[in-house]
Amino acid sequence: MAGALLCALPAHGQAGDGTMPVIAIDDLRSQTLRTPAEFWVAPGRVDISELPLAEFRPLTDRHANRGITGADHWVRVRLSNAEGDSDQSWVLRHETSYLDRLTVYYADNGEPLSRIVLSDRVPFGERPLDYRTLAFPHTTPAGGHTDLYLRLGFDKADSLTLNLNLARSDLFHDASRRENLIYGAFYGIMSAFLLIAVVFSLILRQSVYFHYALFLGASMLMWALLNGFAYQYLWPGSVYWHNEGFHIVYLAMAIAALQFSRRFLKTGRYFPRVNRTIRVMQWVFAGGIALRFAGVYVPVLALSFAALTALVLLSVLGLMAYRRGMGYARWYSAAWLFYGVGLGFSVLSAGSSLFSWGMSPLDYAQAGGVVEAACLLVALSERLMGWDQARRQALLIANQDALTALGNRRALDQAFDNLEEQAQGGGDPVFLAFIDLDHFKAINDRHGHDAGDEVLKHLARILRNACRPEDVCIRYGGEEFAVLARAPNLTQALEITDRIRMAFRSQPTRFQGAAIEHTLTAGIAVAMSADGRLDRSEAIRRADAALYEGKRQGRDRCVASAPETLSDPA
Ligand code: GH3
Ligand code: MG
Ligand code: MG
Repeated sequence: MAGALLCALPAHGQAGDGTMPVIAIDDLRSQTLRTPAEFWVAPGRVDISELPLAEFRPLTDRHANRGITGADHWVRVRLSNAEGDSDQSWVLRHETSYLDRLTVYYADNGEPLSRIVLSDRVPFGERPLDYRTLAFPHTTPAGGHTDLYLRLGFDKADSLTLNLNLARSDLFHDASRRENLIYGAFYGIMSAFLLIAVVFSLILRQSVYFHYALFLGASMLMWALLNGFAYQYLWPGSVYWHNEGFHIVYLAMAIAALQFSRRFLKTGRYFPRVNRTIRVMQWVFAGGIALRFAGVYVPVLALSFAALTALVLLSVLGLMAYRRGMGYARWYSAAWLFYGVGLGFSVLSAGSSLFSWGMSPLDYAQAGGVVEAACLLVALSERLMGWDQARRQALLIANQDALTALGNRRALDQAFDNLEEQAQGGGDPVFLAFIDLDHFKAINDRHGHDAGDEVLKHLARILRNACRPEDVCIRYGGEEFAVLARAPNLTQALEITDRIRMAFRSQPTRFQGAAIEHTLTAGIAVAMSADGRLDRSEAIRRADAALYEGKRQGRDRCVASAPETLSDPA
């Protein structure tokens, strides 16, 4: 018990005089200290010898939460091991990690009272127990009892609860290990999110991920400060950060959350007034941080509550953005809703025993924090996929012909690029067919431009039906089309093209009651031989020459490029 103040006090008159409330601990497990334990609120600094014992009241659930107070609170109880046939070791601990002082006066079997002052104003290592909240270990002898007078208080008014847990030593240590496991999971998950955010901000160079990372980092630090882990593991020597750090980090977290939100929802563009309000808030919170460094407390406490409210209200902002058509804002909105629900459960469970479920009130808010962080990550992913979809859509539109929905000339270039990449694969040769409508100008002239468009769409349908999934059919421009397809030899390539020609010839286009007859001419050339040789400009030139030859011969036919230049294995 290094550093803790241990001294013998003069025998206390009333202690053990029969009026002391008694709790039997011969089969102690783990319990919250409640009635018959009694409490009393001291009007000022009161010495233990001056306690008005008659004014002590039963400590019930209803009385456990004292709100924000600077008053010393006393609790007294006798732990009786009268029925026990062995010594009973136990640990008494306070629920929150930020309680400033817990003074324990204790005496076994009516001996003089001893005193130990537990304080979080001393380095962590000087605590009697390596535990994140103030805790007092003791052993009550078999057949005996221990009288306890506890004084709880803050140096400056803060939120005080009289939730003291009394547990058998081994059960306390079991629970402590379990807590470490759960908190470990919390920090593990949050660290994974943080890592993802950092990697994404580096890869995508998007500030929104960076701000999400900042928010996560500040959140983790804030929780570590609040639940005592920072003091226990990160900086056991820093009394200042343990006691004063919370509001600083909390406000920094709020600033990061607001910055992230501005980037994520693009408030500057879509909600200019909200954006201005948020910016003002960020500066006010930054001012709060400066004030806290300067030693100011109560206004900063008020600012922290304002920040809390602002963060919960972000769910409403998310909903507004969702209504505006930002699909991914629903996850953003859900995130802050979960954050709010976690806080709500914390408040409810602090105010009643309804929501205890073996968790301390702050655990609900912390669990809400994980769900929140996960939702924000989903929101970010959805936003990213939205970008990707938009990019793909743009790519698709850029490569597509508007009238026929076939690929355009750019799609043909891409098909050639793909062939080049697959060239090593070998396989059948690839043929390029150029298709041109016969006397299309006359069709336009006779039936009108709209009818001409209908004819083009009709041919596009025929091409789609004739082509296999791996073939490429495109509209090269105007009334010219192209097909890039694999075939074992030129004869079969000609057959495929001829089927298209026959279909187009035998199926007139129906337009406003008229049946428009039409034919086409095609020219075919090898685009890539079986051994992988590919020359796209040469292929286009030859296919075009063959097409011209077909037109010259009288149209409505398929002509192959000069046979001596074709590598026809047949
Ligand atoms: P040929 O048999 O020699 O190919 O004669 P042609 O009339 O088909 O060829 P020409 O190149 O003289 O005329 C092509 C016509 O195609 C001219 C142009 O108005 C028409 N055209 C080009 N694009 C479109 C289009 O998108 N819609 C319609 N309706 N007509 C188009
Ligand atoms: Mg033409
Ligand atoms: Mg033509």
